[in-house]
Amino acid sequence: MCIFCKIIKGEVPCGKIYEDEHVLVFLDINPISKGHCLVVTKEHYETLLEIPEDESIYLFKALKKIGKALMKGLKADGFNIGMNNFSAAGQVVMHAHFHVIPRFKGDGLKHWPGKKFEEGDYVKEIKRFL
Ligand code: AMP
Ligand code: ZN
Repeated sequence: MCIFCKIIKGEVPCGKIYEDEHVLVFLDINPISKGHCLVVTKEHYETLLEIPEDESIYLFKALKKIGKALMKGLKADGFNIGMNNFSAAGQVVMHAHFHVIPRFKGDGLKHWPGKKFEEGDYVKEIKRFL
């Protein structure tokens, strides 16, 4: 069983922030900033691609609820939502989860670096699978 399923079952402790029938929100053990939360479905799905449509509404609601609470409760100036899908993208825990990261003016955290835009056939390749 994965570590997040163990947390959901109560077999591993967590800093619980919010819970409902579908979703659990807890503090990241290695936070990027104070209040960095993880939002997970109680069912085990590996990545975004496996999460059924009817579950995604509960995730979306929880993300908004937590974002608002972080802003009000921590007087954060904003928040980032991030999700790593598959190991190439940095996913370490293979139970789909969203990171909600409170942001403060001047906190020094940097966005991903951008590259020069390139035209190419890759756009056609993406569109083939939509
Ligand atoms: P990811 O790279 O998106 O798979 O990130 C996994 C995240 O889970 C990391 O930010 C870890 O710090 C966090 N994490 C791993 N184990 C625990 C745990 N037992 N309790 C809370 N957060 C955890
Ligand atoms: Zn799991």
